[in-house]
Amino acid sequence: MAKRDFYEVLGVGKNATDDELRKAYRKLAMKYHPDRNPDSKEAEEKFKEAKEAYEMLSDPEKRAAYDRFGHAGVDPNAAGAGMGGAGMGGAGFADAFGDIFGEIFGGAGGRRGGPQVYRGADLKYTLEISLEQAATGFDTEIRVPSWENCDTCKGSGAKPGTQPQTCSTCGGNGAVRMQQGFFSVQQTCPTCHGSGKEITDPCVACDGVGRIRRNKTLQVKIPAGIDDGMRIRSAGNGEPGVNGGPPGDLYVEIHLKQHSIFQRDGEDLHCELTIPFTTAALGGDVEVPTLSGKGSITIPEGTQTGKTFRLRGKGIKGIRSSYPGDLYCHVAVETPVRLSEEQKKLLRQFEASLSQGGEKHSPKSDSWTDRVKNFFS
Ligand SMILES: [Zn+2]
Ligand SMILES: [Zn+2]
Repeated sequence: MAKRDFYEVLGVGKNATDDELRKAYRKLAMKYHPDRNPDSKEAEEKFKEAKEAYEMLSDPEKRAAYDRFGHAGVDPNAAGAGMGGAGMGGAGFADAFGDIFGEIFGGAGGRRGGPQVYRGADLKYTLEISLEQAATGFDTEIRVPSWENCDTCKGSGAKPGTQPQTCSTCGGNGAVRMQQGFFSVQQTCPTCHGSGKEITDPCVACDGVGRIRRNKTLQVKIPAGIDDGMRIRSAGNGEPGVNGGPPGDLYVEIHLKQHSIFQRDGEDLHCELTIPFTTAALGGDVEVPTLSGKGSITIPEGTQTGKTFRLRGKGIKGIRSSYPGDLYCHVAVETPVRLSEEQKKLLRQFEASLSQGGEKHSPKSDSWTDRVKNFFS
């Protein structure tokens, strides 16, 4: 796909001032921010696109290169750009978050000097639940990791009595400029990872991180009808942000345990219904299990294995539906085993009686026999 013109992306003219660029970017970033557009791939793309355009155009050197050479002038992946793989091309999602929060919420943060602000990582929690729990929904508590400021160093990461020093590599900016070819590229400082501070004497309680991992209990509401693989988002319960950035989110991912009777297919349920061969031949009422208790099906005379009976509304009501699905019972006719001599004798008599009178008693094997005959002839 051809890359859109950076000015077009931001909706500004070629002569836009820095202030105009910044305003345009801010507007787009607020509009397409992933927190406001959960699960929208499109918004995520627009967000990244705007971010990239702004990064390029807000840097006078990159803007000049872009104005002269177009995308080839600034694209690290383009041949001949002479920038190698480093730089802004490979900005991941965390960077996108970090920058936007730096720009909008971080005040002094952002790309131009000052520590880099990053959103914390998302966490995933897998919750195994039963089919019954999924059908009715329930409230539960989960234990998830959480982080607290270290008591010993009060979150600074420096040994009590000492102070974090201004980073000697970046002078407290959190970023360093690297000359690559005839461009200069700004990168997160490798020494302080963007914090602008260097801890020379780390706190022993937290290894200089400034926070300690603990667990906390979280209330989670599992909605009725939830299905395998669905995720529930718990905003702000992910890992903490870096340098004052917002925390990530926690996602509770649902895994349905295998049920001993039912298989779920969306809102429908399926089960095998084993019936005696006498019931299959003579007909009769049989009991069937449903999620809401016992149900009953009338088996007609001459029912074959594989016949399916549907119980309307005995499935599961999906999260967004108004009616529950159905329960499908698949008949399996059971062959009796461990017969006594007497029982075998009765069956042989019965078998003999089937061949008398010229009536066809075996619809399946009769047609099967015919098909085999046709196959060989
Ligand atoms: Zn500490
Ligand atoms: Zn530094």
